[in-house]
Amino acid sequence: MNVFSLSSSSGPADRSGGGLTLTCRRVIQETHDVKTFVLSPKSGQLGPFKAGQFIMLNLVVGGAAVVRNYSISSPPTRPDDLRITVKRVPSGLASNWLHDNLEQGSEIGIVARPAPSPGTTCRASGRFSSPAAAA
Ligand SMILES: Cc1cc2nc3c(=O)[nH]c(=O)nc-3n(C[C@H](O)[C@H](O)[C@H](O)COP(=O)(O)OP(=O)(O)OC[C@H]3O[C@@H](n4cnc5c(N)ncnc54)[C@H](O)[C@@H]3O)c2cc1C
Repeated sequence: MNVFSLSSSSGPADRSGGGLTLTCRRVIQETHDVKTFVLSPKSGQLGPFKAGQFIMLNLVVGGAAVVRNYSISSPPTRPDDLRITVKRVPSGLASNWLHDNLEQGSEIGIVARPAPSPGTTCRASGRFSSPAAAA
């Protein structure tokens, strides 16, 4: 089922690179080097996901594109409250950027991949995907 429209978030201001833009709603400091980021789509709704799935963040760090995977740490029963929990890796590009820059109100993109059927889907043991890249 197609539960959100990517077209409404595409354009020059879209940070997702053709994928989906997420807004950071809250940051939870879990430990000195672990933070949980509470995310929700800038527009529309996310489709259902399954335990163990991950998203591919599409970041720009120091002017370079950086794509990193992060497991979804929130339960599938709360698709509008998507959380990732990130450990700061010494000298790591993405983890340090997220810890130092992603705050309430920030926007980040997730990479879109062609889905096997119309609409946003989650593959059983893989990444959260959307049909945007097929457009
Ligand atoms: C499916 C999947 C799910 C994941 N889920 C999570 C999750 O839920 N939470 C989480 O925290 N992480 C998760 N990860 C790991 C995450 O994707 C990143 O790999 C992690 O955050 C480190 O990325 P980084 O950009 O910070 O570090 P990078 O910049 O990739 O660097 C990693 C390390 O390599 C070193 N390094 C980099 N380049 C060089 C070089 N040229 N020479 C020598 N050393 C170098 C860095 O100093 C650093 O210590 C997951 C990975 C996968 C594959």
